[in-house]
Amino acid sequence: MYFEKDASLHDIQDEVVAVVGYGIQGKAFAANLRDSGVTVVVGNRDDDYRAAAVADGFDTRPIAEAVAAASTVLLLIPDEAHQEVYGTQIAPGLRAGDLFVLAHGFSLRYRRIALPQDIDVALLAPKMFGKPIRQRYTEGSGVLAFLDVVEDRTGRALRRTLGLAKAVGFTRYGVLPVSLATETELDLFQEQFLTPLLLDAFRTAFEVLVEAGCDPVPALLDMHASGEMAEMMVEAATTGLYEVIEEQGSPTCRFGVQKYLGTLLGPEVRDKGAQILAGIRNGDFVAELSREAQAGYPSLADYEAAYKAAAMTRTHDAYRAILGRP
Ligand code: NDP
Repeated sequence: MYFEKDASLHDIQDEVVAVVGYGIQGKAFAANLRDSGVTVVVGNRDDDYRAAAVADGFDTRPIAEAVAAASTVLLLIPDEAHQEVYGTQIAPGLRAGDLFVLAHGFSLRYRRIALPQDIDVALLAPKMFGKPIRQRYTEGSGVLAFLDVVEDRTGRALRRTLGLAKAVGFTRYGVLPVSLATETELDLFQEQFLTPLLLDAFRTAFEVLVEAGCDPVPALLDMHASGEMAEMMVEAATTGLYEVIEEQGSPTCRFGVQKYLGTLLGPEVRDKGAQILAGIRNGDFVAELSREAQAGYPSLADYEAAYKAAAMTRTHDAYRAILGRP
């Protein structure tokens, strides 16, 4: 793992860094890089996000111009847009020796973009969304990131990428070397297996209670909306999932947990996880995603309709009304 002592801002101080995209990640990266003394130019098409970058005082240009002005390019737009934007606005501006950095491995893992042979290429993938990246940086700490040097044409790709990682605050927490293929698979597996499993677990718990006559709002609060579960997960991130129950739970809680632990998910759930991972690895998922995208993401409308109609969502709306929040 790389920490502060392993990285130097000197390795990027002569670079101009193009931050392409000013959304969840781009805004945080750009602000942290600037505050670390790095020269930043934001690349964005003429849209709302461009206005935000201008308002925040950045040298903001069309994407192709930002890339042409830079020696390091950070691609921070949604993965679905990489192929088209890379081909039309980034590839023409890349020069020998430039460093091209992605925050997620998807486009390279599935060969959606083909990079030139004479540039450095790296993955610098934050394991966090944008707001904490910025907030922790201003507080003097940072968040975890994965790093992979995919191509090293200059002999300095690792040092340059670590310099960037330091400037964004990642080395304050730690930067773990993880291959681009693994990072992509982990990210997709978390989205496709763990996240639906957790959402369904909360929903099932809520529905069992309400069907048995419990008041929906207190049921929602006790299952997750009080934030207690979320705090436990934050604690568990460093302490450990089992250890946090050991440390924070009363004997009654610990007895109840151990009584049912390992009994609620049948072997079919594990088999399903293995199937999902296989589909991510063999390209089936990405082929399905392409068909979905070409059809205009019809499944997303189904998802929205289903969660909006769910009793748990309606209860959350009622709870927000009690709190007086929109
Ligand atoms: P966002 O959805 O927040 O990106 C929005 C930005 O992308 C805006 O500047 C928007 O500008 C621009 N954009 C969107 N579509 C296009 C397009 N077709 N052409 C040009 N610009 C476009 O993305 P994220 O910050 O969430 O993700 C960026 C990268 O970071 C991705 O690779 C993602 O996988 C990775 N990542 C994201 C994490 C997260 O927490 N969100 C965590 C770790 C990695 P406008 O619409 O104004 O043109």
